[in-house]
Amino acid sequence: MATPSDVLDRADPLAGFRERFLIDDDLVAYLDGNSLGRLPAATADRLASFVREEWGGRLIRGWEESWVALPVTVGDELGAALLGAAAGQTVIADSTSVNIYKLLHAAAGVRPDRDEILIDATNFPTDRYLVESVAASRGMTVRWLEPDLVENVTVELLGGALSDRTAVVVLSQVDYRSGTLLDLPALTTRIHAAGAVVIWDLCHSVGVVPIELDRDSVDFAVGCTYKYLNGGPGAPAFMYVAARHLAASSQPIAGWWSAADLFAMSETYEAAPSIRKMLSGTPSVPGILAVQEGVRLVAEAGLAAIRRKSEQLTAYVVELLDEAGMEIVTPREPALRGSHVTVRHPDARRVSVEMTQQGVVPDFREPDLIRLGLSPLATSFAEAAAGVAVLVELAGPRR
Ligand SMILES: *Cc1c(COP(=O)(O)O)cnc(C)c1O
Repeated sequence: MATPSDVLDRADPLAGFRERFLIDDDLVAYLDGNSLGRLPAATADRLASFVREEWGGRLIRGWEESWVALPVTVGDELGAALLGAAAGQTVIADSTSVNIYKLLHAAAGVRPDRDEILIDATNFPTDRYLVESVAASRGMTVRWLEPDLVENVTVELLGGALSDRTAVVVLSQVDYRSGTLLDLPALTTRIHAAGAVVIWDLCHSVGVVPIELDRDSVDFAVGCTYKYLNGGPGAPAFMYVAARHLAASSQPIAGWWSAADLFAMSETYEAAPSIRKMLSGTPSVPGILAVQEGVRLVAEAGLAAIRRKSEQLTAYVVELLDEAGMEIVTPREPALRGSHVTVRHPDARRVSVEMTQQGVVPDFREPDLIRLGLSPLATSFAEAAAGVAVLVELAGPRR
């Protein structure tokens, strides 16, 4: 039998962080923090004071006083705390989708003599659609990897598809459906051995998996901030461009925020020599401030402790699901998965709807998957156990 959840909660060094969120809802269990993280109390306070004092009080003066610098200063803060990135390589901007578009052009541009983009067919829809769109616009070819959902992209599978035509490889560090954690260092090394560059999508790993982009010689990376970083709906995303690629990188939405001198209003465009060249237009200031609060909360708890609790939470949920005979499509080895556990069930849609009616919010993924997102700072073992109990009751015994 699984250990009672209250025993696990009492032993949890991060248990106190749950109180740092405004949890004011009628839910039994919120198991969708991997799609939209909860609201940190500090973010509610920061945004309220920003609106009244900074926007209301400083008006246009706010830009020169502090807002102009935010995409880069908060980017550097996120990079240092969560990505293992030295300053000057990370910016906060736009959405993940827009940033993937920019990075695909930048990455293809640093390998101009090659004409293929490689991506796995299991990747998130926006990544796949953008790869197809950018490949078409640049006269490139898409080469698809067809991995098993749970095993996902391995060095061996990737090696069989790389060639001297491969310019760019796009991979997600954690698969959004199975939760599989890819071997980022080994895959990056293999891609470089073939002379290609990589764009890592960190949407489902940032803030919950320790990441070392500089150490692992990653070329480009992108990720969103409203999942495990709790930045709120539509919070702006981040982009990372390794310093060695900065000079050669160019991107197609070259608006005034990417220009060498933002306020010069020059006749002719000249790209900024810094990471600012990846920006486009006026950023969302409240959005970036919410990202900053999310980053600070994760940094305060520490990624090593967060990862430990994440592994314990997913292991606990796997154990409960096993006891109930449910089918799991997430790796069984904790080191090989991110922070969600996915169940396959023939009635997944009905079960998800009924779970939500009973106050347990999971995430349904077509056609037959139910994801249980476990956000280590906000999710208690008791909450996870309560959610699984409702799922098991609605799903019935395995036939
Ligand atoms: C959530 C997610 C996105 C989201 O992209 P948006 O532009 O923010 O809508 C992209 N890629 C992956 C892998 C994701 O998990």
